[in-house]
Amino acid sequence: KRRVGVMTSGGDAPGMNGAVRAVVRMAIAKGCEAYGIYEGYEGLVQGGDMIKEMQWDDVRGFLSEGGTLIGTARCMAFMERAGRLKAAKNMVVRGMDALVICGGDGSLTGADKFRAEWSGLLEELVQTKELTPEQTAPFKHLNIVGLVGSIDNDMSSTDATIGCYSSLARICQSIDYIDATAFSHQRAFVIEVMGRHCGWLALMAGVSCGADFIFIPEKPPSEDWQNEMCKKVAKQRNMGKRKTIVIVAEGAHDQELHKITPDQVKDVLSKKLGLDTRITTLGHVQRGGNPCAYDRMLSTLQGAEAVNAVLEATPDTPSPVICIIENKIVRKPLLDAVALTKSVAEAIKAKDFAKAMQLRDAE
Ligand code: ATP
Repeated sequence: KRRVGVMTSGGDAPGMNGAVRAVVRMAIAKGCEAYGIYEGYEGLVQGGDMIKEMQWDDVRGFLSEGGTLIGTARCMAFMERAGRLKAAKNMVVRGMDALVICGGDGSLTGADKFRAEWSGLLEELVQTKELTPEQTAPFKHLNIVGLVGSIDNDMSSTDATIGCYSSLARICQSIDYIDATAFSHQRAFVIEVMGRHCGWLALMAGVSCGADFIFIPEKPPSEDWQNEMCKKVAKQRNMGKRKTIVIVAEGAHDQELHKITPDQVKDVLSKKLGLDTRITTLGHVQRGGNPCAYDRMLSTLQGAEAVNAVLEATPDTPSPVICIIENKIVRKPLLDAVALTKSVAEAIKAKDFAKAMQLRDAE
């Protein structure tokens, strides 16, 4: 029987459990054995009981649970070849040559590197007598498939990452709560949302909640942003609006890449417009809680497709990442998706914001 491993890695995201459930059950349905690798790459490097066979019943109830029940971690050991050598040994010892990884671009880059090194790692394990040639012989190739789990929706080549819509829903719900109190006291609220280098959560929350102004990394405001924002807010206030909502992405900056902080925005609103202004940093509530229906559906369909892909993989096909594009579940070359994602960050770093927006639009 083929043995398919599944792990979650990098930051947790609602829907990751749905992906694990789908991989485990699809693998079993396809006649394979499924293995859960606990605590991301840490489990792969440490082996032992951090790699456990999972039966159909073991993932019962996973679909509606937030976070990741098999754990996740940032694993420094896997960044080094020595760590990946241990991981390769553990996989061979456990009879596994197929791996589905649900994580962000870092996790997927690591996975592809592992695959590229695989035959060299096995050779070294034989040379150093950690494994015998007989043990490694059936595991000539490592098959890797990526699933993108991230609340940030920061991966190119897919319209939505597993977790982003749950997080967006949580942000909207939180802003609705804030709206009520803002309205009552005629206050302004500056709300910081997650997203790292990606403004998707801030932008979509702004659209969904009717925010007055938003700050996102891909399209920094003009140099005169203080007056620009005040003009917009004042116009709304003059038309009778009793509340003001400004959303600041955690990666927001000005055209010179100087960070724009909620404190700065608050000062401007208070000092220039005399508004009673408060700051709310939504923090980790954005990651937690149950996945929304969309993420349950996405993780299930993509998890099932990941098993198909991992079983169909050949040594010549590049590792795929499972995406959703215009509502279709599709496979894309993993490294292309990672490279495109990195090029957005590079365009921002080079202050080429037009290119950053163009790349995001093209995604
Ligand atoms: P998120 O988007 O939530 O941060 P991520 O997958 O990008 O998720 P990272 O912290 O970048 O999160 O990566 C998770 C783990 O993947 C790392 O701790 C490390 O074990 C492994 N990893 C990341 N990049 C590499 C790499 N270049 N080579 C080998 N392993 C890597």
